[in-house]
Amino acid sequence: MNETASLRARAEIDLDALRANVRALRARAGGAQLMAVVKSDAYGHGAVPCARAALEAGATWLGTATPQEALALREAGLGGRVMCWLWTPGGPWREAIEADIDVSVSGMWALREVVAAATEAGIPARIQLKADTGLGRNGCQPADWPELVAAARGAEDAGTVRITGLWSHFACADEPGHPSIAAQLAVFRDMVAHAEKEGVDPEVRHMANSPATLTIPEAHFDLVRTGIAMYGISPSPELGTPADFGLRPVMTLVASIALVKQVPAGHGISYGHHYTTSAETTLGLVPVGYADGIPRHASGRAPVLVGGVTRRIAGRVAMDQFVVDLDGDEIEAGSEAVLFGPGDRGEPSAEDWAQAADTIAYEIVTRIGTRVPRVHL
Ligand code: PLP
Repeated sequence: MNETASLRARAEIDLDALRANVRALRARAGGAQLMAVVKSDAYGHGAVPCARAALEAGATWLGTATPQEALALREAGLGGRVMCWLWTPGGPWREAIEADIDVSVSGMWALREVVAAATEAGIPARIQLKADTGLGRNGCQPADWPELVAAARGAEDAGTVRITGLWSHFACADEPGHPSIAAQLAVFRDMVAHAEKEGVDPEVRHMANSPATLTIPEAHFDLVRTGIAMYGISPSPELGTPADFGLRPVMTLVASIALVKQVPAGHGISYGHHYTTSAETTLGLVPVGYADGIPRHASGRAPVLVGGVTRRIAGRVAMDQFVVDLDGDEIEAGSEAVLFGPGDRGEPSAEDWAQAADTIAYEIVTRIGTRVPRVHL
């Protein structure tokens, strides 16, 4: 048995698929540049190899939430523009400035900290001002925008910062026709116009995440920030399947069946005995559990492909393992259980798992734990 096949479980990451997805998304974004969003370890797919593949396929920016994620990309030797947006007071501003990372600024405390760090470093910081156009999360409120813009312009005139971007984020881009989409676009245009009137001359203005990239052309501006679609997953079943957008799922989650055994009818399965065999049958033990990111909420519901047949999880998902009822089929220990993937082998999709676990596919892939090795193909 080769090393990969002998693994308890593995997440196969198809980097060719990721590259093809980046190309498809760039085509959809028209002339806009593409930022590959590789936060959260590239949504569980492995940040450095995915970032590298995205750059090879024409992405010009990499996006992360935390500065530590952005710094790790630079430490791995990755070029391209890098931006990070989730700062807390006392963050590593100076390290980010020295690593040529664009930093997002949502308010006055952040501007003060970045100006102090840039002054210390003796290098102007590349800052991107974030507008809260209606998401109600991070970003500067419209009422506070003139003060932030004026202060940032002052710092720019003093040579401590360069305002490289103006940007925002949608609340409901995955709900076609939602009234907040047009409202947020209008607020963004106003906030950009105000900043430009005050002398801001940004390299990029941007708002679009995956659903906006796929379905709202007027939101593309200079740059689109794609995460989930780049990993070949539809942002929402309502928008369509990955194939509808020419996208291919990048991750396949496979486990090696640890044990197959026969049990009589009436046998309770797993904690709480929430499943009982209705006839004499065979059971397969799948050696991944909620510690590996398999949602316990999918107990008894999520589909798994074993021996060419889609089975359901029998009983509760435990920390390290769950059981499938093989309906008497003779399957050998060591056979593959394919939890989700692109469907080539007839396996379910990450979206199927999301439905079974009452969540979104973002959560399914992002939560696959560190005990599961990523095998980049
Ligand atoms: N931009 C920001 C600020 C984000 O937080 C995210 C992810 O949540 C994205 C872009 C990418 O979103 P999506 O995965 O829907 O493309």
